[in-house]
Amino acid sequence: VKRNPYEYEFHQAVKEILESLIPVLSKHPKYMKSGILERIVEPERLITFRVPWVDDQGITQVNRGFRVQFNSAIGPYKGGLRFHPSVNASIIKFLGFEQTFKNSLTGQPIGGGKGGSDFDPKGKSDNEIMRFTQSFMTELYKYMGPDTDVPAGDIGVGAREIGYMFGQYKRIRGAHEAGVLTGKGIIYGGSLGRTEATGYGCVYFVNEMLQSKGLSFEGSTVVVSGSGNVAIYSMQKAIQLGAKVVACSDSNGYIYDKKGICLDTIRRLKEVERKRISEYVKEHPTATYHEGCNDIWSVPCDIALPSATQNEINEDAAKILVSNGVIAVGEGANMPSTLEAIDVFLQAGVLFGPAKAANAGGVAVSALEMSQNSMRYSWQFHEVDDKLHVIMKNIYKSAVQAAEEYGHPGNLVVGANIAGFTKVADAMIAQGVV
Ligand code: NDP
Repeated sequence: VKRNPYEYEFHQAVKEILESLIPVLSKHPKYMKSGILERIVEPERLITFRVPWVDDQGITQVNRGFRVQFNSAIGPYKGGLRFHPSVNASIIKFLGFEQTFKNSLTGQPIGGGKGGSDFDPKGKSDNEIMRFTQSFMTELYKYMGPDTDVPAGDIGVGAREIGYMFGQYKRIRGAHEAGVLTGKGIIYGGSLGRTEATGYGCVYFVNEMLQSKGLSFEGSTVVVSGSGNVAIYSMQKAIQLGAKVVACSDSNGYIYDKKGICLDTIRRLKEVERKRISEYVKEHPTATYHEGCNDIWSVPCDIALPSATQNEINEDAAKILVSNGVIAVGEGANMPSTLEAIDVFLQAGVLFGPAKAANAGGVAVSALEMSQNSMRYSWQFHEVDDKLHVIMKNIYKSAVQAAEEYGHPGNLVVGANIAGFTKVADAMIAQGVV
Protein backbone atom coordinates (compact mmCIF):
# COMPACT_ATOMS: atom_id res chain seq x y z
CA VAL A 1 0.00 0.00 0.00
CA LYS A 2 2.88 2.37 0.83
CA ARG A 3 4.62 1.73 -2.50
CA ASN A 4 1.42 2.16 -4.50
CA PRO A 5 -0.52 4.91 -2.71
CA TYR A 6 -4.16 5.51 -3.69
CA GLU A 7 -4.19 2.53 -6.08
CA TYR A 8 -7.32 1.07 -4.48
CA GLU A 9 -8.38 -1.20 -7.33
CA PHE A 10 -4.85 -2.58 -7.60
CA HIS A 11 -4.72 -3.25 -3.83
CA GLN A 12 -8.10 -5.04 -4.07
CA ALA A 13 -6.94 -7.32 -6.90
CA VAL A 14 -3.64 -8.13 -5.15
CA LYS A 15 -5.38 -8.83 -1.82
CA GLU A 16 -7.79 -11.28 -3.41
CA ILE A 17 -4.99 -13.24 -5.06
CA LEU A 18 -2.47 -13.22 -2.22
CA GLU A 19 -5.04 -14.45 0.30
CA SER A 20 -5.86 -17.39 -1.97
CA LEU A 21 -2.20 -18.31 -2.25
CA ILE A 22 -1.61 -18.96 1.46
CA PRO A 23 -2.02 -22.77 1.16
CA VAL A 24 0.33 -22.88 -1.87
CA LEU A 25 3.01 -20.85 -0.14
CA SER A 26 2.97 -23.03 2.96
CA LYS A 27 3.15 -26.22 0.87
CA HIS A 28 5.90 -24.94 -1.50
CA PRO A 29 8.50 -22.75 0.27
CA LYS A 30 10.35 -22.32 -3.07
CA TYR A 31 7.98 -19.46 -3.98
CA MET A 32 8.88 -17.42 -0.90
CA LYS A 33 12.60 -18.25 -1.20
CA SER A 34 12.79 -16.95 -4.75
CA GLY A 35 10.94 -13.73 -3.99
CA ILE A 36 8.10 -14.61 -6.32
CA LEU A 37 5.46 -12.60 -4.44
CA GLU A 38 7.56 -9.42 -4.40
CA ARG A 39 8.32 -9.84 -8.10
CA ILE A 40 4.87 -10.86 -9.30
CA VAL A 41 3.12 -7.77 -7.86
CA GLU A 42 5.63 -5.41 -9.50
CA PRO A 43 4.94 -4.77 -13.21
CA GLU A 44 7.92 -5.31 -15.50
CA ARG A 45 7.17 -1.77 -16.69
CA LEU A 46 4.43 0.86 -16.69
CA ILE A 47 4.48 3.29 -19.58
CA THR A 48 2.51 6.55 -19.43
CA PHE A 49 2.41 9.09 -22.20
CA ARG A 50 0.80 12.26 -23.52
CA VAL A 51 -1.88 11.85 -26.20
CA PRO A 52 -2.54 15.22 -27.88
CA TRP A 53 -5.27 15.50 -30.52
CA VAL A 54 -7.44 18.16 -32.15
CA ASP A 55 -11.22 18.01 -31.76
CA ASP A 56 -13.83 18.97 -34.38
CA GLN A 57 -13.87 22.58 -33.10
CA GLY A 58 -10.14 22.87 -33.78
CA ILE A 59 -9.27 22.84 -30.06
CA THR A 60 -6.28 20.85 -28.86
CA GLN A 61 -7.13 18.20 -26.28
CA VAL A 62 -4.68 16.23 -24.15
CA ASN A 63 -5.33 12.79 -22.69
CA ARG A 64 -3.09 10.37 -20.85
CA GLY A 65 -2.13 7.02 -22.35
CA PHE A 66 -1.04 3.93 -20.37
CA ARG A 67 0.40 0.51 -21.05
CA VAL A 68 1.40 -1.84 -18.28
CA GLN A 69 3.64 -4.72 -19.31
CA PHE A 70 3.05 -6.80 -16.24
CA ASN A 71 4.54 -10.20 -16.73
CA SER A 72 6.20 -11.94 -19.70
CA ALA A 73 7.18 -15.21 -17.99
CA ILE A 74 5.03 -17.40 -20.23
CA GLY A 75 4.71 -15.31 -23.41
CA PRO A 76 4.46 -11.85 -24.95
CA TYR A 77 2.37 -9.32 -22.99
CA LYS A 78 -1.28 -9.65 -23.96
CA GLY A 79 -4.29 -7.67 -22.79
CA GLY A 80 -6.80 -5.09 -23.91
CA LEU A 81 -6.91 -1.31 -24.17
CA ARG A 82 -9.63 0.58 -22.29
CA PHE A 83 -10.84 4.08 -23.23
CA HIS A 84 -12.90 5.48 -20.35
CA PRO A 85 -12.62 8.67 -18.26
CA SER A 86 -12.04 6.59 -15.10
CA VAL A 87 -8.79 5.09 -16.45
CA ASN A 88 -5.73 5.72 -14.27
CA ALA A 89 -2.62 3.81 -13.17
CA SER A 90 -4.55 1.87 -10.50
CA ILE A 91 -7.19 0.61 -12.92
CA ILE A 92 -4.60 -0.35 -15.52
CA LYS A 93 -2.43 -2.14 -12.94
CA PHE A 94 -5.32 -4.11 -11.45
CA LEU A 95 -6.37 -5.17 -14.94
CA GLY A 96 -2.81 -6.10 -15.95
CA PHE A 97 -2.24 -8.06 -12.75
CA GLU A 98 -5.48 -10.04 -13.21
CA GLN A 99 -4.65 -10.56 -16.87
CA THR A 100 -1.38 -12.31 -15.98
CA PHE A 101 -3.22 -15.09 -14.12
CA LYS A 102 -6.13 -15.23 -16.55
CA ASN A 103 -3.81 -15.69 -19.52
CA SER A 104 -1.98 -18.44 -17.67
CA LEU A 105 -5.30 -20.21 -17.00
CA THR A 106 -6.12 -20.34 -20.73
CA GLY A 107 -3.18 -22.74 -21.20
CA GLN A 108 -1.83 -20.55 -24.02
CA PRO A 109 1.63 -18.94 -24.22
CA ILE A 110 0.65 -15.36 -23.38
CA GLY A 111 1.94 -13.01 -20.69
CA GLY A 112 -0.04 -10.25 -18.96
CA GLY A 113 -0.49 -6.64 -20.05
CA LYS A 114 -3.17 -3.95 -20.21
CA GLY A 115 -3.49 -0.36 -21.33
CA GLY A 116 -5.74 2.46 -22.33
CA SER A 117 -6.52 6.11 -21.82
CA ASP A 118 -8.76 8.46 -19.86
CA PHE A 119 -10.22 9.51 -23.23
CA ASP A 120 -14.05 9.36 -23.27
CA PRO A 121 -15.30 8.04 -26.62
CA LYS A 122 -18.93 8.92 -25.77
CA GLY A 123 -20.30 11.69 -27.96
CA LYS A 124 -17.15 11.90 -30.10
CA SER A 125 -17.44 11.99 -33.89
CA ASP A 126 -15.89 9.29 -36.03
CA ASN A 127 -13.15 11.70 -37.11
CA GLU A 128 -12.34 12.57 -33.50
CA ILE A 129 -12.07 8.87 -32.63
CA MET A 130 -9.72 8.40 -35.57
CA ARG A 131 -7.51 11.36 -34.70
CA PHE A 132 -7.30 10.29 -31.06
CA THR A 133 -6.50 6.64 -31.82
CA GLN A 134 -3.85 7.65 -34.36
CA SER A 135 -2.16 9.91 -31.82
CA PHE A 136 -2.38 7.16 -29.17
CA MET A 137 -0.77 4.62 -31.49
CA THR A 138 1.96 7.04 -32.59
CA GLU A 139 3.42 6.62 -29.10
CA LEU A 140 2.28 3.11 -28.20
CA TYR A 141 3.73 1.43 -31.33
CA LYS A 142 7.25 1.77 -29.88
CA TYR A 143 6.46 -0.78 -27.21
CA MET A 144 4.43 -3.27 -29.29
CA GLY A 145 5.16 -6.16 -31.65
CA PRO A 146 3.78 -9.63 -32.44
CA ASP A 147 6.42 -11.19 -30.14
CA THR A 148 6.57 -8.31 -27.64
CA ASP A 149 3.17 -6.94 -26.70
CA VAL A 150 -0.16 -7.59 -28.43
CA PRO A 151 -3.03 -5.32 -27.31
CA ALA A 152 -6.75 -5.89 -27.98
CA GLY A 153 -10.06 -4.16 -27.11
CA ASP A 154 -11.78 -3.56 -23.77
CA ILE A 155 -14.31 -0.96 -22.56
CA GLY A 156 -14.68 1.73 -25.23
CA VAL A 157 -12.40 -0.06 -27.69
CA GLY A 158 -14.14 -2.18 -30.30
CA ALA A 159 -13.66 -3.08 -33.96
CA ARG A 160 -13.67 0.55 -35.12
CA GLU A 161 -10.93 1.66 -32.72
CA ILE A 162 -8.82 -1.45 -33.35
CA GLY A 163 -9.13 -0.80 -37.11
CA TYR A 164 -7.84 2.78 -36.82
CA MET A 165 -5.02 1.71 -34.49
CA PHE A 166 -3.98 -1.12 -36.79
CA GLY A 167 -3.96 1.27 -39.75
CA GLN A 168 -1.69 3.73 -37.92
CA TYR A 169 0.65 0.99 -36.66
CA LYS A 170 0.99 -0.40 -40.20
CA ARG A 171 1.66 3.06 -41.59
CA ILE A 172 4.43 3.80 -39.06
CA ARG A 173 6.05 0.35 -39.24
CA GLY A 174 5.63 0.00 -43.01
CA ALA A 175 4.59 -3.64 -42.60
CA HIS A 176 1.35 -5.58 -42.28
CA GLU A 177 2.22 -7.30 -39.01
CA ALA A 178 -1.19 -8.89 -38.50
CA GLY A 179 -0.28 -10.46 -35.16
CA VAL A 180 0.37 -7.14 -33.41
CA LEU A 181 -3.25 -6.46 -32.41
CA THR A 182 -6.21 -8.77 -31.91
CA GLY A 183 -9.91 -8.11 -32.33
CA LYS A 184 -9.18 -7.01 -35.92
CA GLY A 185 -11.84 -6.99 -38.63
CA ILE A 186 -12.24 -10.35 -40.37
CA ILE A 187 -11.20 -8.97 -43.78
CA TYR A 188 -7.76 -7.88 -42.56
CA GLY A 189 -6.65 -10.67 -40.24
CA GLY A 190 -9.25 -10.97 -37.50
CA SER A 191 -10.59 -14.25 -36.20
CA LEU A 192 -14.14 -15.44 -36.60
CA GLY A 193 -15.63 -15.88 -33.16
CA ARG A 194 -13.50 -13.23 -31.41
CA THR A 195 -16.41 -10.78 -31.10
CA GLU A 196 -18.53 -13.44 -29.39
CA ALA A 197 -15.73 -15.07 -27.40
CA THR A 198 -15.87 -13.40 -23.97
CA GLY A 199 -19.66 -13.59 -23.67
CA TYR A 200 -19.94 -17.11 -25.07
CA GLY A 201 -17.01 -18.25 -22.95
CA CYS A 202 -18.59 -16.86 -19.80
CA VAL A 203 -21.82 -18.74 -20.48
CA TYR A 204 -19.87 -21.95 -21.26
CA PHE A 205 -18.11 -21.57 -17.92
CA VAL A 206 -21.33 -20.98 -15.98
CA ASN A 207 -22.86 -23.96 -17.78
CA GLU A 208 -20.05 -26.16 -16.43
CA MET A 209 -20.80 -24.93 -12.90
CA LEU A 210 -24.53 -25.57 -13.36
CA GLN A 211 -24.00 -29.04 -14.85
CA SER A 212 -21.88 -30.04 -11.87
CA LYS A 213 -25.11 -29.70 -9.81
CA GLY A 214 -27.40 -31.26 -12.45
CA LEU A 215 -28.71 -27.80 -13.50
CA SER A 216 -28.71 -25.89 -16.80
CA PHE A 217 -29.62 -22.57 -18.44
CA GLU A 218 -32.82 -24.11 -19.86
CA GLY A 219 -35.85 -22.30 -18.42
CA SER A 220 -33.74 -20.02 -16.17
CA THR A 221 -34.13 -16.26 -15.68
CA VAL A 222 -30.96 -14.28 -16.31
CA VAL A 223 -29.88 -10.70 -15.56
CA VAL A 224 -26.89 -9.27 -17.44
CA SER A 225 -25.39 -5.89 -16.62
CA GLY A 226 -23.96 -3.74 -19.41
CA SER A 227 -24.94 -3.82 -23.06
CA GLY A 228 -21.50 -3.82 -24.64
CA ASN A 229 -19.47 -6.54 -26.26
CA VAL A 230 -19.37 -8.97 -23.34
CA ALA A 231 -23.01 -8.41 -22.30
CA ILE A 232 -24.49 -8.80 -25.78
CA TYR A 233 -22.83 -12.15 -26.54
CA SER A 234 -23.48 -13.49 -23.03
CA MET A 235 -27.15 -12.74 -23.62
CA GLN A 236 -27.05 -14.36 -27.05
CA LYS A 237 -25.54 -17.62 -25.81
CA ALA A 238 -27.74 -17.75 -22.70
CA ILE A 239 -30.83 -17.34 -24.91
CA GLN A 240 -29.54 -20.06 -27.27
CA LEU A 241 -29.27 -22.37 -24.27
CA GLY A 242 -32.91 -21.77 -23.34
CA ALA A 243 -32.67 -18.94 -20.80
CA LYS A 244 -34.82 -15.82 -20.63
CA VAL A 245 -32.79 -12.62 -20.19
CA VAL A 246 -35.02 -10.08 -18.42
CA ALA A 247 -32.69 -7.12 -17.75
CA CYS A 248 -29.58 -5.37 -19.06
CA SER A 249 -28.08 -1.89 -18.61
CA ASP A 250 -25.72 0.85 -19.64
CA SER A 251 -23.97 3.37 -17.42
CA ASN A 252 -27.16 5.49 -17.12
CA GLY A 253 -29.81 2.91 -16.26
CA TYR A 254 -31.31 -0.50 -16.90
CA ILE A 255 -34.24 -2.00 -18.77
CA TYR A 256 -36.51 -4.74 -17.52
CA ASP A 257 -38.70 -6.83 -19.80
CA LYS A 258 -40.44 -9.71 -18.08
CA LYS A 259 -41.24 -11.31 -21.45
CA GLY A 260 -37.54 -11.50 -22.23
CA ILE A 261 -35.34 -8.85 -23.85
CA CYS A 262 -35.27 -8.61 -27.65
CA LEU A 263 -31.58 -8.94 -28.43
CA ASP A 264 -31.94 -7.77 -32.05
CA THR A 265 -33.13 -4.37 -30.78
CA ILE A 266 -30.27 -4.14 -28.26
CA ARG A 267 -27.71 -5.01 -30.92
CA ARG A 268 -29.04 -2.43 -33.36
CA LEU A 269 -29.26 0.29 -30.69
CA LYS A 270 -25.81 -0.36 -29.20
CA GLU A 271 -23.69 -1.82 -32.02
CA VAL A 272 -25.05 0.10 -35.02
CA GLU A 273 -26.75 3.28 -33.82
CA ARG A 274 -24.58 3.75 -30.68
CA LYS A 275 -27.63 4.95 -28.72
CA ARG A 276 -28.58 4.72 -25.04
CA ILE A 277 -30.37 1.67 -23.59
CA SER A 278 -33.33 3.90 -22.59
CA GLU A 279 -34.32 3.98 -26.27
CA TYR A 280 -35.33 0.31 -26.02
CA VAL A 281 -38.65 1.04 -24.27
CA LYS A 282 -39.81 3.25 -27.15
CA GLU A 283 -39.94 0.13 -29.32
CA HIS A 284 -41.01 -2.34 -26.62
CA PRO A 285 -43.83 -0.87 -24.52
CA THR A 286 -43.96 -3.91 -22.21
CA ALA A 287 -40.45 -3.07 -21.00
CA THR A 288 -39.62 -0.48 -18.33
CA TYR A 289 -36.58 1.79 -18.06
CA HIS A 290 -35.04 2.55 -14.65
CA GLU A 291 -32.59 5.39 -14.14
CA GLY A 292 -29.36 4.31 -12.37
CA CYS A 293 -27.57 1.11 -13.38
CA ASN A 294 -26.73 -0.31 -9.94
CA ASP A 295 -30.31 -1.23 -9.04
CA ILE A 296 -30.32 -3.86 -11.77
CA TRP A 297 -29.33 -6.41 -9.10
CA SER A 298 -32.73 -6.00 -7.42
CA VAL A 299 -34.32 -7.77 -10.40
CA PRO A 300 -34.97 -11.39 -9.29
CA CYS A 301 -33.01 -13.94 -11.31
CA ASP A 302 -31.54 -17.45 -11.21
CA ILE A 303 -28.29 -16.46 -12.92
CA ALA A 304 -26.48 -13.10 -12.77
CA LEU A 305 -23.83 -12.19 -15.33
CA PRO A 306 -22.19 -8.87 -14.33
CA SER A 307 -20.63 -7.71 -17.62
CA ALA A 308 -20.14 -3.95 -17.33
CA THR A 309 -17.30 -2.81 -15.05
CA GLN A 310 -15.36 -3.22 -11.78
CA ASN A 311 -17.09 -3.17 -8.37
CA GLU A 312 -20.60 -3.04 -9.80
CA ILE A 313 -21.85 -5.61 -7.23
CA ASN A 314 -21.24 -4.54 -3.64
CA GLU A 315 -22.14 -6.38 -0.46
CA ASP A 316 -25.72 -5.03 -0.42
CA ALA A 317 -26.35 -5.93 -4.04
CA ALA A 318 -24.97 -9.43 -3.40
CA LYS A 319 -27.31 -9.87 -0.42
CA ILE A 320 -30.30 -8.82 -2.53
CA LEU A 321 -29.34 -11.28 -5.25
CA VAL A 322 -29.02 -14.06 -2.67
CA SER A 323 -32.34 -13.22 -1.00
CA ASN A 324 -33.98 -13.32 -4.44
CA GLY A 325 -32.66 -16.85 -4.89
CA VAL A 326 -29.74 -16.46 -7.31
CA ILE A 327 -28.09 -19.85 -8.01
CA ALA A 328 -25.08 -18.83 -10.09
CA VAL A 329 -22.98 -15.74 -10.78
CA GLY A 330 -20.57 -15.60 -13.73
CA GLU A 331 -18.26 -12.59 -13.86
CA GLY A 332 -18.12 -11.40 -17.48
CA ALA A 333 -16.55 -8.07 -16.47
CA ASN A 334 -13.21 -7.75 -14.67
CA MET A 335 -13.55 -7.63 -10.86
CA PRO A 336 -17.28 -6.71 -10.95
CA SER A 337 -17.84 -8.01 -7.40
CA THR A 338 -16.23 -6.38 -4.37
CA LEU A 339 -14.37 -8.67 -1.93
CA GLU A 340 -17.34 -8.38 0.48
CA ALA A 341 -19.80 -9.35 -2.26
CA ILE A 342 -17.74 -12.43 -3.12
CA ASP A 343 -17.86 -13.50 0.54
CA VAL A 344 -21.66 -13.15 0.52
CA PHE A 345 -21.95 -15.40 -2.55
CA LEU A 346 -19.52 -18.03 -1.26
CA GLN A 347 -21.12 -18.20 2.18
CA ALA A 348 -24.58 -18.56 0.64
CA GLY A 349 -23.36 -21.47 -1.51
CA VAL A 350 -23.96 -19.61 -4.79
CA LEU A 351 -22.03 -21.10 -7.73
CA PHE A 352 -19.49 -18.33 -8.32
CA GLY A 353 -17.37 -18.06 -11.48
CA PRO A 354 -14.61 -15.47 -10.86
CA ALA A 355 -13.65 -13.13 -13.68
CA LYS A 356 -10.20 -14.42 -14.39
CA ALA A 357 -11.68 -17.84 -15.18
CA ALA A 358 -15.17 -17.00 -16.45
CA ASN A 359 -14.20 -14.19 -18.83
CA ALA A 360 -10.95 -15.73 -20.12
CA GLY A 361 -12.64 -16.76 -23.39
CA GLY A 362 -11.92 -13.39 -25.01
CA VAL A 363 -8.19 -13.48 -24.54
CA ALA A 364 -8.15 -17.20 -25.36
CA VAL A 365 -9.64 -16.51 -28.79
CA SER A 366 -7.29 -13.53 -29.16
CA ALA A 367 -4.44 -16.02 -28.76
CA LEU A 368 -6.14 -18.18 -31.41
CA GLU A 369 -6.22 -15.07 -33.63
CA MET A 370 -2.44 -14.73 -33.12
CA SER A 371 -2.00 -18.40 -34.07
CA GLN A 372 -4.02 -17.93 -37.26
CA ASN A 373 -2.01 -14.80 -38.13
CA SER A 374 1.26 -16.72 -37.66
CA MET A 375 -0.01 -19.54 -39.88
CA ARG A 376 -1.49 -17.07 -42.41
CA TYR A 377 -4.62 -19.15 -42.25
CA SER A 378 -8.19 -18.71 -40.97
CA TRP A 379 -10.30 -21.20 -39.08
CA GLN A 380 -14.05 -21.35 -39.59
CA PHE A 381 -16.42 -20.04 -36.93
CA HIS A 382 -17.32 -23.49 -35.60
CA GLU A 383 -13.64 -24.48 -35.35
CA VAL A 384 -12.87 -21.43 -33.20
CA ASP A 385 -16.02 -21.87 -31.13
CA ASP A 386 -15.24 -25.57 -30.53
CA LYS A 387 -11.73 -24.66 -29.36
CA LEU A 388 -13.16 -21.95 -27.09
CA HIS A 389 -15.58 -24.44 -25.58
CA VAL A 390 -12.77 -26.90 -24.83
CA ILE A 391 -10.61 -24.12 -23.33
CA MET A 392 -13.44 -23.00 -21.01
CA LYS A 393 -14.07 -26.58 -19.87
CA ASN A 394 -10.34 -26.97 -19.16
CA ILE A 395 -10.20 -23.72 -17.18
CA TYR A 396 -13.16 -24.92 -15.12
CA LYS A 397 -11.45 -28.29 -14.49
CA SER A 398 -8.14 -26.68 -13.48
CA ALA A 399 -9.89 -24.33 -11.04
CA VAL A 400 -11.93 -27.17 -9.52
CA GLN A 401 -8.85 -29.41 -9.15
CA ALA A 402 -6.66 -26.69 -7.62
CA ALA A 403 -9.42 -25.76 -5.15
CA GLU A 404 -9.71 -29.39 -4.06
CA GLU A 405 -5.95 -30.00 -3.92
CA TYR A 406 -5.40 -27.00 -1.64
CA GLY A 407 -8.29 -27.66 0.74
CA HIS A 408 -11.06 -25.36 -0.57
CA PRO A 409 -13.33 -27.69 -2.57
CA GLY A 410 -15.85 -25.81 -4.72
CA ASN A 411 -14.21 -22.40 -4.17
CA LEU A 412 -13.33 -21.38 -7.72
CA VAL A 413 -11.90 -18.03 -6.59
CA VAL A 414 -9.14 -19.85 -4.74
CA GLY A 415 -8.90 -22.54 -7.44
CA ALA A 416 -8.52 -20.11 -10.36
CA ASN A 417 -5.98 -17.97 -8.49
CA ILE A 418 -3.83 -20.97 -7.57
CA ALA A 419 -4.02 -22.62 -10.99
CA GLY A 420 -3.13 -19.33 -12.71
CA PHE A 421 -0.34 -18.51 -10.27
CA THR A 422 1.63 -21.77 -10.18
CA LYS A 423 2.40 -21.82 -13.90
CA VAL A 424 3.58 -18.19 -13.99
CA ALA A 425 5.58 -18.61 -10.77
CA ASP A 426 7.27 -21.83 -11.98
CA ALA A 427 8.19 -20.14 -15.28
CA MET A 428 9.65 -17.19 -13.36
CA ILE A 429 11.75 -19.49 -11.18
CA ALA A 430 12.98 -21.42 -14.24
CA GLN A 431 14.12 -18.15 -15.85
CA GLY A 432 16.12 -16.94 -12.82
CA VAL A 433 15.91 -13.62 -11.03
CA VAL A 434 14.91 -11.29 -13.88
P1 NDP B 1 -17.96 -2.24 -23.83
O1 NDP B 1 -17.38 -0.88 -23.89
O2 NDP B 1 -18.32 -2.92 -25.10
O3 NDP B 1 -19.28 -2.24 -22.91
C1 NDP B 1 -19.24 -1.82 -21.58
C2 NDP B 1 -20.65 -1.78 -21.04
O4 NDP B 1 -20.59 -1.53 -19.65
C3 NDP B 1 -21.49 -0.67 -21.66
O5 NDP B 1 -22.84 -1.04 -21.65
C4 NDP B 1 -21.22 0.48 -20.68
O6 NDP B 1 -22.26 1.45 -20.67
C5 NDP B 1 -21.16 -0.23 -19.37
N1 NDP B 1 -20.27 0.49 -18.45
C6 NDP B 1 -19.00 0.88 -18.68
N2 NDP B 1 -18.50 1.54 -17.63
C7 NDP B 1 -19.46 1.57 -16.71
C8 NDP B 1 -19.57 2.10 -15.42
N3 NDP B 1 -18.54 2.76 -14.84
N4 NDP B 1 -20.73 1.91 -14.74
C9 NDP B 1 -21.77 1.26 -15.33
N5 NDP B 1 -21.73 0.72 -16.56
C10 NDP B 1 -20.60 0.88 -17.24
O7 NDP B 1 -16.93 -3.10 -22.98
P2 NDP B 1 -16.76 -4.68 -22.90
O8 NDP B 1 -18.08 -5.34 -23.02
O9 NDP B 1 -15.68 -5.07 -23.82
O10 NDP B 1 -16.20 -4.86 -21.42
C11 NDP B 1 -17.05 -5.03 -20.29
C12 NDP B 1 -16.27 -5.65 -19.16
O11 NDP B 1 -15.77 -6.93 -19.57
C13 NDP B 1 -15.04 -4.88 -18.68
O12 NDP B 1 -14.86 -5.09 -17.30
C14 NDP B 1 -13.90 -5.54 -19.44
O13 NDP B 1 -12.66 -5.35 -18.81
C15 NDP B 1 -14.35 -6.98 -19.37
N6 NDP B 1 -13.76 -7.87 -20.37
C16 NDP B 1 -13.89 -7.62 -21.70
C17 NDP B 1 -13.35 -8.50 -22.62
C18 NDP B 1 -13.59 -8.34 -24.09
O14 NDP B 1 -13.22 -9.26 -24.84
N7 NDP B 1 -14.18 -7.26 -24.57
C19 NDP B 1 -12.54 -9.66 -22.20
C20 NDP B 1 -12.54 -9.88 -20.76
C21 NDP B 1 -13.10 -8.99 -19.90
P3 NDP B 1 -22.11 2.81 -21.54
O15 NDP B 1 -22.45 2.43 -22.94
O16 NDP B 1 -23.08 3.73 -20.92
O17 NDP B 1 -20.70 3.25 -21.38
